[in-house]
Amino acid sequence: QLSKRLEKVADYLPEGAYFADIGSDHAYLPCYVCLNDPTAKAVAGEVNQGPLDSAREEVASHQLQNRIDTRLGNGLAVLEKDEVNQVTVAGMGGPLIRDILEQGKDKLTSVNRIIVQPNIDARSLRRWFINNKYKLCAEEILEENGHIYEVLVAEPGNPGEPYSEGQLEKELWLGPYLLQTNSAVFQKKWREELGKKQYVLGQIMQAATPDEEKVKQIQSDIDMLKEVVQ
Ligand code: SAM
Repeated sequence: QLSKRLEKVADYLPEGAYFADIGSDHAYLPCYVCLNDPTAKAVAGEVNQGPLDSAREEVASHQLQNRIDTRLGNGLAVLEKDEVNQVTVAGMGGPLIRDILEQGKDKLTSVNRIIVQPNIDARSLRRWFINNKYKLCAEEILEENGHIYEVLVAEPGNPGEPYSEGQLEKELWLGPYLLQTNSAVFQKKWREELGKKQYVLGQIMQAATPDEEKVKQIQSDIDMLKEVVQ
Protein backbone atom coordinates (compact mmCIF):
# COMPACT_ATOMS: atom_id res chain seq x y z
CA GLN A 1 0.00 0.00 0.00
CA LEU A 2 1.25 3.44 -0.98
CA SER A 3 1.96 6.01 1.73
CA LYS A 4 -0.60 8.79 2.21
CA ARG A 5 2.19 11.19 1.33
CA LEU A 6 2.82 9.73 -2.12
CA GLU A 7 -0.89 9.16 -2.66
CA LYS A 8 -1.34 12.91 -2.31
CA VAL A 9 1.33 13.48 -4.96
CA ALA A 10 -0.41 10.96 -7.23
CA ASP A 11 -3.75 12.74 -6.73
CA TYR A 12 -2.39 15.71 -8.66
CA LEU A 13 -1.43 13.75 -11.77
CA PRO A 14 -4.06 13.87 -14.52
CA GLU A 15 -5.44 10.77 -16.16
CA GLY A 16 -3.17 9.63 -18.96
CA ALA A 17 -0.17 11.26 -17.32
CA TYR A 18 3.26 10.84 -18.87
CA PHE A 19 5.48 11.85 -16.00
CA ALA A 20 9.00 11.64 -14.66
CA ASP A 21 9.43 10.67 -11.02
CA ILE A 22 12.87 11.90 -10.05
CA GLY A 23 14.52 10.20 -7.09
CA SER A 24 12.02 7.40 -7.47
CA ASP A 25 13.76 4.91 -5.14
CA HIS A 26 11.45 1.84 -5.23
CA ALA A 27 9.33 3.41 -7.97
CA TYR A 28 6.31 3.00 -5.69
CA LEU A 29 4.73 6.17 -7.02
CA PRO A 30 4.96 5.39 -10.76
CA CYS A 31 3.84 1.78 -10.13
CA TYR A 32 0.82 2.94 -8.14
CA VAL A 33 -0.14 5.49 -10.80
CA CYS A 34 0.27 3.05 -13.69
CA LEU A 35 -1.61 0.27 -11.88
CA ASN A 36 -4.53 2.62 -11.29
CA ASP A 37 -4.51 4.23 -14.72
CA PRO A 38 -3.86 1.95 -17.70
CA THR A 39 -3.19 5.02 -19.88
CA ALA A 40 -0.41 6.44 -17.67
CA LYS A 41 3.30 6.14 -18.46
CA ALA A 42 6.35 7.17 -16.50
CA VAL A 43 10.09 7.54 -16.34
CA ALA A 44 11.58 6.64 -12.96
CA GLY A 45 14.90 8.45 -12.49
CA GLU A 46 17.49 7.54 -9.88
CA VAL A 47 21.00 8.84 -9.29
CA ASN A 48 22.01 5.80 -7.21
CA GLN A 49 22.34 2.24 -8.47
CA GLY A 50 20.91 0.57 -5.33
CA PRO A 51 17.58 2.41 -5.44
CA LEU A 52 17.49 2.01 -9.22
CA ASP A 53 17.76 -1.77 -8.79
CA SER A 54 14.88 -1.64 -6.30
CA ALA A 55 12.86 0.40 -8.81
CA ARG A 56 13.55 -2.14 -11.56
CA GLU A 57 12.48 -5.03 -9.32
CA GLU A 58 9.29 -3.29 -8.29
CA VAL A 59 8.40 -2.38 -11.88
CA ALA A 60 9.11 -5.94 -13.06
CA SER A 61 7.03 -7.42 -10.24
CA HIS A 62 4.00 -5.62 -11.69
CA GLN A 63 5.03 -6.28 -15.30
CA LEU A 64 5.07 -2.57 -15.97
CA GLN A 65 8.39 -2.45 -17.88
CA ASN A 66 6.65 -1.35 -21.06
CA ARG A 67 5.10 1.68 -19.32
CA ILE A 68 7.71 2.65 -16.71
CA ASP A 69 11.21 3.27 -17.95
CA THR A 70 13.79 3.17 -15.15
CA ARG A 71 16.88 5.30 -15.80
CA LEU A 72 20.11 5.99 -13.95
CA GLY A 73 21.16 9.63 -13.84
CA ASN A 74 21.22 12.95 -12.05
CA GLY A 75 17.88 14.73 -11.76
CA LEU A 76 16.17 15.66 -15.01
CA ALA A 77 19.25 14.69 -17.05
CA VAL A 78 17.64 11.25 -17.52
CA LEU A 79 15.03 12.85 -19.79
CA GLU A 80 15.05 13.68 -23.48
CA LYS A 81 13.96 17.15 -24.46
CA ASP A 82 10.16 17.52 -24.63
CA GLU A 83 9.64 14.00 -23.36
CA VAL A 84 7.27 14.11 -20.38
CA ASN A 85 4.29 16.25 -19.41
CA GLN A 86 4.55 16.16 -15.63
CA VAL A 87 7.38 15.90 -13.12
CA THR A 88 7.20 14.64 -9.54
CA VAL A 89 9.99 14.95 -6.99
CA ALA A 90 9.22 13.69 -3.49
CA GLY A 91 10.92 12.90 -0.21
CA MET A 92 13.94 15.20 -0.45
CA GLY A 93 14.81 18.57 1.02
CA GLY A 94 13.40 21.65 -0.70
CA PRO A 95 16.83 23.03 -1.70
CA LEU A 96 17.79 19.71 -3.35
CA ILE A 97 14.52 19.59 -5.28
CA ARG A 98 15.04 23.22 -6.30
CA ASP A 99 18.55 22.42 -7.59
CA ILE A 100 17.19 19.46 -9.58
CA LEU A 101 14.61 21.74 -11.22
CA GLU A 102 17.12 24.54 -11.78
CA GLN A 103 19.75 22.27 -13.34
CA GLY A 104 17.19 20.56 -15.55
CA LYS A 105 15.27 23.61 -16.75
CA ASP A 106 15.85 22.71 -20.42
CA LYS A 107 13.86 19.50 -19.84
CA LEU A 108 10.86 21.34 -18.47
CA THR A 109 9.68 22.94 -21.72
CA SER A 110 7.04 20.25 -22.31
CA VAL A 111 6.09 19.96 -18.65
CA ASN A 112 2.69 21.39 -17.75
CA ARG A 113 2.69 20.42 -14.08
CA ILE A 114 5.32 20.00 -11.39
CA ILE A 115 4.39 18.26 -8.14
CA VAL A 116 6.92 18.35 -5.31
CA GLN A 117 6.94 17.05 -1.77
CA PRO A 118 9.81 18.70 0.09
CA ASN A 119 10.65 17.23 3.50
CA ILE A 120 11.99 20.59 4.64
CA ASP A 121 12.07 24.19 3.42
CA ALA A 122 9.13 24.41 1.02
CA ARG A 123 9.91 28.13 0.86
CA SER A 124 12.90 27.55 -1.41
CA LEU A 125 10.56 25.89 -3.93
CA ARG A 126 7.89 28.60 -3.71
CA ARG A 127 10.66 31.10 -4.48
CA TRP A 128 11.95 29.03 -7.39
CA PHE A 129 8.45 28.82 -8.85
CA ILE A 130 8.08 32.61 -8.70
CA ASN A 131 11.51 33.24 -10.23
CA ASN A 132 10.80 30.80 -13.05
CA LYS A 133 7.24 31.89 -13.91
CA TYR A 134 5.35 28.98 -12.46
CA LYS A 135 2.05 29.57 -10.75
CA LEU A 136 1.67 27.72 -7.48
CA CYS A 137 -1.79 26.21 -7.99
CA ALA A 138 -2.34 23.96 -4.97
CA GLU A 139 -0.79 23.00 -1.66
CA GLU A 140 -1.51 20.17 0.72
CA ILE A 141 -0.34 19.42 4.22
CA LEU A 142 -0.72 16.03 5.87
CA GLU A 143 0.55 14.01 8.79
CA GLU A 144 1.73 10.43 8.53
CA ASN A 145 3.66 8.33 11.07
CA GLY A 146 4.44 11.37 13.19
CA HIS A 147 5.78 13.46 10.31
CA ILE A 148 4.14 16.44 8.69
CA TYR A 149 4.53 16.72 4.91
CA GLU A 150 3.76 19.43 2.40
CA VAL A 151 2.91 18.88 -1.26
CA LEU A 152 3.18 21.76 -3.74
CA VAL A 153 1.72 21.82 -7.23
CA ALA A 154 2.81 24.32 -9.88
CA GLU A 155 2.06 25.02 -13.52
CA PRO A 156 3.50 27.49 -16.01
CA GLY A 157 1.56 30.72 -15.43
CA ASN A 158 1.30 33.96 -13.53
CA PRO A 159 3.56 33.42 -10.51
CA GLY A 160 2.09 36.28 -8.50
CA GLU A 161 -1.44 34.94 -8.51
CA PRO A 162 -1.85 33.19 -5.16
CA TYR A 163 0.11 35.79 -3.19
CA SER A 164 -1.32 38.85 -1.45
CA GLU A 165 0.09 42.37 -1.32
CA GLY A 166 2.31 42.91 1.71
CA GLN A 167 2.13 39.26 2.79
CA LEU A 168 4.77 37.79 0.49
CA GLU A 169 7.33 36.80 3.11
CA LYS A 170 4.74 35.13 5.30
CA GLU A 171 3.08 33.35 2.38
CA LEU A 172 6.39 32.17 0.92
CA TRP A 173 7.25 30.63 4.25
CA LEU A 174 3.93 29.14 5.33
CA GLY A 175 2.20 28.73 1.96
CA PRO A 176 -0.58 30.95 0.59
CA TYR A 177 -3.14 28.15 0.24
CA LEU A 178 -2.13 26.41 3.46
CA LEU A 179 -2.53 29.68 5.37
CA GLN A 180 -5.98 30.14 3.91
CA THR A 181 -7.13 26.59 4.63
CA ASN A 182 -5.60 26.74 8.11
CA SER A 183 -6.02 23.03 8.85
CA ALA A 184 -5.38 21.34 12.20
CA VAL A 185 -2.15 19.81 10.81
CA PHE A 186 -1.00 23.25 9.61
CA GLN A 187 -1.66 24.65 13.10
CA LYS A 188 0.24 21.76 14.66
CA LYS A 189 3.28 22.23 12.42
CA TRP A 190 3.61 25.94 13.06
CA ARG A 191 2.76 25.72 16.76
CA GLU A 192 5.67 23.31 17.14
CA GLU A 193 7.91 25.56 15.04
CA LEU A 194 6.95 28.56 17.20
CA GLY A 195 7.92 26.61 20.31
CA LYS A 196 11.29 25.72 18.79
CA LYS A 197 11.99 29.30 17.75
CA GLN A 198 11.09 30.58 21.22
CA TYR A 199 13.43 28.03 22.77
CA VAL A 200 16.29 28.99 20.43
CA LEU A 201 15.72 32.68 21.15
CA GLY A 202 15.95 31.91 24.87
CA GLN A 203 19.26 30.13 24.29
CA ILE A 204 20.69 32.97 22.21
CA MET A 205 19.69 35.55 24.83
CA GLN A 206 21.67 33.65 27.47
CA ALA A 207 24.93 34.39 25.65
CA ALA A 208 27.11 37.16 27.11
CA THR A 209 26.75 39.12 23.87
CA PRO A 210 23.76 37.83 21.88
CA ASP A 211 24.12 38.10 18.11
CA GLU A 212 21.85 41.05 17.32
CA GLU A 213 21.17 40.05 13.71
CA LYS A 214 20.15 36.55 14.77
CA VAL A 215 17.90 37.89 17.52
CA LYS A 216 16.20 40.26 15.08
CA GLN A 217 15.60 37.51 12.54
CA ILE A 218 14.25 34.99 15.00
CA GLN A 219 12.09 37.60 16.73
CA SER A 220 10.58 38.52 13.38
CA ASP A 221 9.87 34.82 12.65
CA ILE A 222 8.25 34.46 16.08
CA ASP A 223 6.06 37.53 15.47
CA MET A 224 4.96 36.13 12.13
CA LEU A 225 4.10 32.74 13.63
CA LYS A 226 2.22 34.35 16.53
CA GLU A 227 -0.10 36.01 14.01
CA VAL A 228 -0.93 32.59 12.61
CA VAL A 229 -0.88 30.11 15.48
CA GLN A 230 -4.15 29.94 17.39
N1 SAM B 1 10.69 9.70 -4.04
C1 SAM B 1 10.68 8.61 -3.09
C2 SAM B 1 9.74 8.90 -1.96
O1 SAM B 1 9.29 10.05 -1.85
O2 SAM B 1 9.44 8.00 -1.18
C3 SAM B 1 12.07 8.34 -2.54
C4 SAM B 1 12.64 9.39 -1.66
S1 SAM B 1 14.28 8.99 -1.17
C5 SAM B 1 14.37 9.67 0.42
C6 SAM B 1 15.25 10.07 -2.16
C7 SAM B 1 15.78 9.38 -3.40
O3 SAM B 1 16.27 10.36 -4.31
C8 SAM B 1 16.95 8.44 -3.11
O4 SAM B 1 16.66 7.18 -3.66
C9 SAM B 1 18.13 9.11 -3.83
O5 SAM B 1 19.02 8.16 -4.38
C10 SAM B 1 17.46 9.93 -4.91
N2 SAM B 1 18.16 11.13 -5.35
C11 SAM B 1 18.80 12.05 -4.62
N3 SAM B 1 19.31 13.02 -5.38
C12 SAM B 1 18.95 12.73 -6.66
C13 SAM B 1 19.20 13.33 -7.91
N4 SAM B 1 19.89 14.46 -8.02
N5 SAM B 1 18.69 12.74 -9.02
C14 SAM B 1 18.00 11.59 -8.94
N6 SAM B 1 17.76 10.96 -7.77
C15 SAM B 1 18.22 11.52 -6.65
